[in-house]
Amino acid sequence: MNVSMIGINFAYVISAALFIFGLKMLSSPATARRGNLVSALGMLLAIVVTLLAQGLDYKWIILGMAVGTAIGLVAAYRVEMTAMPEMVALFNGFGGIASLLLAWGEYHQYPQMSTFIAIVAFLSAFIGGVTFTGSMVAYGKLAGRINTKAILFKGQHLINAGILLLAIGAAVLFSMHPASGGGYALFLLIIVLALSFGVTSTIPIGGADMPVVISLLNSYSGLAACAAGFVISNNILIVAGALVGASGIILTNIMCKAMNRSLANVLFSGFGAVTQAGEGGGEQGEIRPATAEDVYYILEAADSVVFVPGYGLAVAQAQHVVRELGDLLEANGTEVSYAIHPVAGRMPGHMNVLLAEANVPYDQLVEMDDINPRMDSVDVCVVIGANDVVNPAALEDESSPIYGMPIIETFRAKTVIVLKRSMNPGFAGIQNALFFRPNTRMFFGDAKASIQALIAEFKGSD
Ligand code: NDP
Repeated sequence: MNVSMIGINFAYVISAALFIFGLKMLSSPATARRGNLVSALGMLLAIVVTLLAQGLDYKWIILGMAVGTAIGLVAAYRVEMTAMPEMVALFNGFGGIASLLLAWGEYHQYPQMSTFIAIVAFLSAFIGGVTFTGSMVAYGKLAGRINTKAILFKGQHLINAGILLLAIGAAVLFSMHPASGGGYALFLLIIVLALSFGVTSTIPIGGADMPVVISLLNSYSGLAACAAGFVISNNILIVAGALVGASGIILTNIMCKAMNRSLANVLFSGFGAVTQAGEGGGEQGEIRPATAEDVYYILEAADSVVFVPGYGLAVAQAQHVVRELGDLLEANGTEVSYAIHPVAGRMPGHMNVLLAEANVPYDQLVEMDDINPRMDSVDVCVVIGANDVVNPAALEDESSPIYGMPIIETFRAKTVIVLKRSMNPGFAGIQNALFFRPNTRMFFGDAKASIQALIAEFKGSD
């Protein structure tokens, strides 16, 4: 190993360490932003060192970087917080296609590859291809550009198994003689099968499960990058790919647990095909609407208030006004906290990101497992655009599609105020028994406008 190789590998070790520290810091809202920066610094170091080391044709790289940076910047500035999962889906897809193209380019240039390199080239192209089309379908479903329901038909699993077996067969033949006459045709066949499998394995999954699928595809994009790292013998790509692969699968597991479902159930049950808006109970008695003035008097008299944010907080962009209301309550001597369900919103950490944006103090954030044991002593729970994650049917109704999912048990608080615009159901498409409980008051309206009205009540009373 010459001196420059030692220098490069040393820089890669520093990059890898920065990735790992960055990932560790992502596990707490207090350090997550810095964690992101630390990891990005690691990636910058890896890119700079790789570019300096390889003596590449820089004009194409600079052009590619300029185009990529422009697209990335516009996308990042324009994306709505509620569309973040769609953006992540697109990024995963681009990662996948990059690995596929890398393997293809390498094979095109050096077809005389060893069996090992042929196997990793197959893995990079196949997993990358599946990730690309799978992510495009996930994006289409989340953005409502294609049918969001699970598309199920007879013999679907057989077709998927058939594609997979064919791809494995083609990979075995390809790896034995990559440079033979039929090698190129086999490689192209593998690419076609991968792109097809991405579509056929994702369409049976309903829109409701797409965030889990995106996390899984994120893991795939990491594995594809890891295999690509072996193809071009780039150590940092192997490490970065492995880290993405492992983090993606851990996150997938956390999301499945939070919904009390197995990964197999998410992938194969066609959840979105059976749950339709309005199903699951319908009207379950009387509701008790409340005005801003009613809610003001309840909050003003409360010793403890727990805000429970959900997807509606993101839609209404109500995070800043919630913080303002929280401050007013604290000034009134009320103990304020924010209870976060792991799958509230549409992506993991969705609520944490929003509340952090409004500078809600981290020590006021409480996890579901910590708030539930003391829920009976809470005076008021204010549910802001959350629905499924506070639905008691998950605990009480065995026929409910969300039965078994852990929830924030707001119904046990002395009073529950629910802020939403209508009686429409949430993501799972089912009615919520909480809205009909005797201790629940429904405060209808856009969450931001409703909270502004409450703030006006507080300020008007001064
Ligand atoms: P839900 O989707 O269950 O409910 C959101 C509620 O917000 C709706 O009932 C809606 O009612 C209300 N809402 C929408 N816009 C507004 C607004 N402008 N002002 C006030 N209210 C509004 O959200 P939850 O957060 O409770 O649950 C998340 C769901 O997503 C769960 O089913 C979870 O399993 C699923 N999921 C989440 C993932 C994650 O990673 N976070 C991943 C996969 C799935 P209305 O229209 O009447 O206003």
